[in-house]
Amino acid sequence: RKPRIAVVFGGRSSEHGISCVTAGSVLAAIDREKYDVVPVGIATDGRWVLEADDASRLAITGSTLPEVDASRSMVALLGAAGSTDLVVTDAAQVPETLGAVDVVFPLLHGPWGEDGTLQGMLEMAGVRYVGSGVLASAVGMDKAYMKIVLEAAGLPVTPGITVTRREWQVDQVSAIARVEALGYPSFSKPARGGSSIGISKIHDRGEIVEAVELALQYDAKVLVEVAVVGGREVECGVLATTDGAPETSRPAEVRTGGEHEFYDFEAKYLADQHTEIDLPADLPPEVEQELRAHAVRAFEALSCEGLARVDFFVLPDHTLIINELNTMPGFTPTSMFPQMWAASGVSYPELVDRLITLALERDTGLR
Ligand code: ATP
Ligand code: MG
Ligand code: MG
Ligand code: MG
Repeated sequence: RKPRIAVVFGGRSSEHGISCVTAGSVLAAIDREKYDVVPVGIATDGRWVLEADDASRLAITGSTLPEVDASRSMVALLGAAGSTDLVVTDAAQVPETLGAVDVVFPLLHGPWGEDGTLQGMLEMAGVRYVGSGVLASAVGMDKAYMKIVLEAAGLPVTPGITVTRREWQVDQVSAIARVEALGYPSFSKPARGGSSIGISKIHDRGEIVEAVELALQYDAKVLVEVAVVGGREVECGVLATTDGAPETSRPAEVRTGGEHEFYDFEAKYLADQHTEIDLPADLPPEVEQELRAHAVRAFEALSCEGLARVDFFVLPDHTLIINELNTMPGFTPTSMFPQMWAASGVSYPELVDRLITLALERDTGLR
């Protein structure tokens, strides 16, 4: 029989809707001649449901993002968040359980999906899956630990500090002093986030409290880091190969304009927001080469698998700084990662196929 691919999407994080959009594109692009597809939605409450195989339902309409339909029958994968029981399913509507799935394609962004939790569950079950394993997913999700690992690998990052919710509650004065010591401007971010949700640029002391409290709404740990001023934002796709070094895409530059002071949520996803993409980025060949080599080093420093998108700042003198690495980057056909691969000769359906092929060859450790 054909390999059966469970496309898992939605999830409990603030990027639920973006994940649904991604899933719609992947469902439309998977080669049905080659693979059977089981669409599995994770509702915002953590419930796993068998979704309709309907890519068109999962599109952005205006500025409204799609959601997993929590009313659909639950699927007997591996349980729901907060439950140790196996989920009861409607047998009439669920053709198979996870045991019959060959590969899970976790199209989840953010905590409980991109962060190693789902990956750990799949490792326990011995199920193959697309993308990074437990450690790389967890480190890639946590911007504070990511910085430590990248720095230890000799890669350039911008200095930062963390503020925990507990510290904020018991000693806000010293937390503010540590933020103040970074200078201005700085950026405040949920340590484990994505899509620029909860991120603020801090211009002066008067903006610290609001910025940190916004980020604390999304995570109990906040990273505040020195802003890179005057840097261009350049991203690079990395794709593993079955037998050798990972490959990199042509890099792309993102330029935000209008009222967007940085590459925020609206500039990323909502139409007509003055975001311009240069693909390939206009860089001297040797700078592009160095950036792509850095992207591979970052991928390897975190021991990533499958895919990653590495986000850089390029200073006017072409000094490179790594902002972050995403182990499950945005994956709609208009997202940067697929666009960069398209510009490098790998089409969207080919990209999906390559990731599934890599996953099918993954060693589950089970014999
Ligand atoms: P993604 O959707 O790429 O996963 P994210 O939520 O993980 O985003 P970052 O990429 O860390 O967040 O930051 C989002 C944007 O905020 C960056 O693309 C950039 O525009 C701005 N930014 C973040 N940190 C800095 C910094 N230290 N200096 C300058 N700009 C920054
Ligand atoms: Mg990110
Ligand atoms: Mg992300
Ligand atoms: Mg980013």
